[in-house]
Order: sequence, then C-alpha cells, then structure tokens
Amino acid sequence: MRKINTTNFSIATRTTARDINRRIALNVIRERQPISRADLARHMKMTRGVVSVLVQELIVQELIYEGATGEAARGRKPTFLHVRTKDRLAIAVDIRFTKTYLMLCDFSGRQLGIEIYDTVFSVPDFTKDLARRVKKMLKGLGAGAVCEGIGVVVPGMVDQRTGRVLNAPALGWRGVDIRSKIAAATDLPVHVENSGRACALAQLWLEKAETAGQSFVYVSVSDGVGTGIVMNGELIRGRDHIAGEFGHMPIDLDGPRCMCGANGCWEAYTSNLATLARYFGWNLSQLSPKHMKEMEKNSFTVLDLISRARTGDAKALSAIRASGRFLGLGLATIVNIINPDAIYLAGEITNAWDLIEETVRSAMVERALTEAASRTPLRITPAQEYPRLRGAAALIAAPTFAAPRVA
Ligand SMILES: [Zn+2]
Repeated sequence: MRKINTTNFSIATRTTARDINRRIALNVIRERQPISRADLARHMKMTRGVVSVLVQELIVQELIYEGATGEAARGRKPTFLHVRTKDRLAIAVDIRFTKTYLMLCDFSGRQLGIEIYDTVFSVPDFTKDLARRVKKMLKGLGAGAVCEGIGVVVPGMVDQRTGRVLNAPALGWRGVDIRSKIAAATDLPVHVENSGRACALAQLWLEKAETAGQSFVYVSVSDGVGTGIVMNGELIRGRDHIAGEFGHMPIDLDGPRCMCGANGCWEAYTSNLATLARYFGWNLSQLSPKHMKEMEKNSFTVLDLISRARTGDAKALSAIRASGRFLGLGLATIVNIINPDAIYLAGEITNAWDLIEETVRSAMVERALTEAASRTPLRITPAQEYPRLRGAAALIAAPTFAAPRVA
C-alpha cells in the first residue's frame, strides 16, 4: 500500500475520477488493441454509455483513433479502437563514455532512424552537434508527423525534475543544466534521466501487464553499470536522485579505481571496461577517461572479446567469466537488499550469456541469503534491442500512459 501523506495532498475533485478512468481506458486500449467499445466497457466493468464518453474524450485529445469496423452477429457493427502511435514521434539519445546513440522512433517504440557517433565531451559542442543531427533527422518526415520531444539518458546522477546532470563522472559533467541547453538549441521539449532508471521505466512502459505492480531491478552493464529500481510498480528516485547507484557499492576498498573516483566499486569489476582491462592486463587505477577512450578508439570492444572467447581464446573466456562472477556477486547483494520479483539484465555482456550464466548463477547461490532468493529470475534484454534508447524514448512517450498522481 502507499500511505496517504496527510501533510501534502491534493483533494480529489469531481474531475479526478474521470481523469483516472480515462487513463485506465487509454491503458486498457493500449494493451488490448484493437478493441471495441463494448469489450472496453466489459474490461472496465462500466456501462457502454460512460465508456463511450471517455473514448470520445481520448479521440478529441488525439490519443486514440477509430480503425476498421468489425463483424457483429446482429445489431450495429463495432468500430475498433487503437492508440495513436504512428505520427507521434520521439527522439532518443543515449550518451555513453565512448559513443552517443541517437534514434528517431514512434510512440510504439518502432525505430525510424539511428545514428551512432563518438561522444563529444564539451557541453556547448555536444549541444550544437546534437541540434544539427536532430534537425537533419526530422527533415524528411511526412506531413502530420510530430516530434513530441527528446529523451536523453546519461551515465550518472540526474535531477530529472530540473533536467540537471548532477554528476556524470564518465563524461566529466557536473551540475550541467543539459535540458535547457538542448531545449534552447532544438526548440523541442527535453527530458533527462539516468540511464539505468530510464531502462527500468521503459520496462514498465513496454512490458505492460508483466511488470504491473511488480518490484524489479534493471541492471545495464556498459562502460559503467547503471541500475534502476522499481518497487510495487513505481520507479524509485530517492531524496537526492541517486537511489539505485549499485554500480558504486564497494567490493574491495583497495580494488581498482572507478570513474567516480573511489576504489573497488562493483562497476570497476564487471563493466565492459573492467572486462577489457582484465583481458589486456591494464591497470584501471592508472587509466584516465581520456586514456581509456583512446584505447576504445582502437576499436577492440567487449563484443570482440566475446568472439575471441567463442573461438577458443582461453584468456578471453576467463576474463569474461571473471566479470560474470562479479556480476553474480553484485546481483546477490541486490537480491539481499531489495528481494525483487525479477532482475532485468542488459548490455553487451549478455551476448555471452550462454558462456557466463552458470558462473553468474553460482555466485548468486554463494551470496544470496536464502536458496529461494538465489533463484530470483534473471531476464536478459538483447543488446540489439537498444534498451537504453528505448528508455530515452519512454521518457517522452510513457508519461501519457502513467497513472495520475492522487492523494
Ligand atoms: Zn564508483
């Protein structure tokens, strides 16, 4: 249950119930489309008349549209309702240490264009370059198509309400008001979020029924490790917007240096860079972000390392399995703290899932406090689905479908 806050609340007005029912109708249509008014009324346990009013309001708001007419044994033929996604577009931006990913998609998450380029670290240059790319991307769009905003995910702490990057060590951005800068350069609404949290949000939005009311943790392993926590269907942000920074939990105080400046963080053992460092015998402690970027430029990625592991390179296999073991140990800690219904895993390392699953699982068994907890379902998101870009797109598309805030 969510306790009612008796010091800060808003009283339900006559329109509250209608707002809630309209949102419910929109979500039921999204999950069961195409659906007739009669079926919608049945699902919502409301009369046809009341549902028709809600549907009319949603049509006027251009959130849904009427599609084909169905067959009926007798009486009036039903018209099927659909959520309007086609001409509603969003730009998704995933800024990483090595590369920036830029995608144009519609509200159903369908990809219409993608660009991948080297990350620009200077904020003014980044903004200028992004605005140019966005304009080019939106140019050839058909009439009627509307881009409703830009969703940006960053590897670091973000105050999502103000759009300010509080601290993104990998980018060297601290206290940067990236939202207003991008909005000013592109003339579009912008939402900014931490990458792990955006992935969790996308999971809530796209998987629909499967995650409704559930508690889960999303772990995205890339140049660093991003995490998002959802408790009882709600994304947790925390007082200072840093909830879920599991990537920086200490594994060993004398361990390798992490990009956050501390030593021995979980991500310094299990991120892509940690895996590459293990393979090449680099000392992570002595590598500056710039230095590491130089190495990345030599274009040997963790995916190449996985290919080598598959073709019999024992050193590559042991480097990736060691990361798998640390991954499992960290997951066990997450299980012991949150005890979620499931953990979602994403990132290039999941391409080697068949090579590391056993190692990850046995590390979980080693540290999870009960046997049942060690069996927490792990759900793998393939890297080619671009979960972080999906998360960035969800920042624009998902709020339309969110439950209204009441009480
Ligand atoms: Zn750290």
